[in-house]
Amino acid sequence: MDTRLACDDVMQRVTEYLDEALPPGAKEPFEQHLAECANCTRYLQEIRQTIHRLGALPREPMPASMKDRLLQALHSRQSA
Ligand SMILES: [Zn+2]
Repeated sequence: MDTRLACDDVMQRVTEYLDEALPPGAKEPFEQHLAECANCTRYLQEIRQTIHRLGALPREPMPASMKDRLLQALHSRQSA
């Protein structure tokens, strides 16, 4: 069985990961994906920086506007 995550899955759950809120068993494939995927690693770093600026991890799901901005930044880097 293929346990690899799609980039989309990683981005959906990145705040859970940072909050150590992933269910047991979900963290390993998550970290494996990060180890192999520079884009998601960068995304994770951007979320970390955002959290650092905010001073806390928002409990609410990420606002769609912020997510769109991050995804756009990600895509523009990808195609560059
Ligand atoms: Zn990825």
